[in-house]
Amino acid sequence: MRRNKPGTRQADLWAWDIEDVSNMQGPLAVQEYIQELIRNDPSNVQKICEPPKDVDINVWQYEHLRQFILELNLLATQLKGVCTSQTCPKMKAADDWLYLCAAHKTPQECSAIDYMIHNLDQSTSILQNIKNYNSRVSIPQSAVKNLAPIVRRLYRLFTHTYYNHRQAFLDFEKEMYLCSRFTEYALKFDMMAPKLLTIPQSELNIKENN
Ligand SMILES: [Zn+2]
Ligand SMILES: [Zn+2]
Repeated sequence: MRRNKPGTRQADLWAWDIEDVSNMQGPLAVQEYIQELIRNDPSNVQKICEPPKDVDINVWQYEHLRQFILELNLLATQLKGVCTSQTCPKMKAADDWLYLCAAHKTPQECSAIDYMIHNLDQSTSILQNIKNYNSRVSIPQSAVKNLAPIVRRLYRLFTHTYYNHRQAFLDFEKEMYLCSRFTEYALKFDMMAPKLLTIPQSELNIKENN
């Protein structure tokens, strides 16, 4: 049975076999499949990012990005109290480059935590728009080109956390492998140039020389 019985031990949760995505039906099948892969073993980033052969590659990229946003919201929640308008009044990463928040009519200097939340909200609404003018069963190439700029902006959430709140980054990553998965995804689908992925791969659970 594909559900957790009451009283199941933590270690035994989600312990069923992953269903073949081609057996899964409905507009949420791909999302459910991705979530199952993650629950099953979040550290297996290659497998999680590998598109199954009968899934539309554009839908695959789109659904992964939606999932990243869901989980980045968890990261932002964990950063509350760690990253505040006092500790980080401006959004910066490793260098002194200041990122303006583009979620406003005129780009603004939002604090880092506000920048993260505004960006997540904006990314969500862009992706919902893509969904609105199409189904989640197929997504046209013209809409897929909107994904890369979102990926580049969202990556700043990782760099800010890594370079300013290292322990929080490492704690979150140890459990979720989110930046590892995101990096694998960005490289695999050419969303970002490798040189822009500035968090050392040695800190992540992905193969070097990617
Ligand atoms: Zn911060
Ligand atoms: Zn803002």
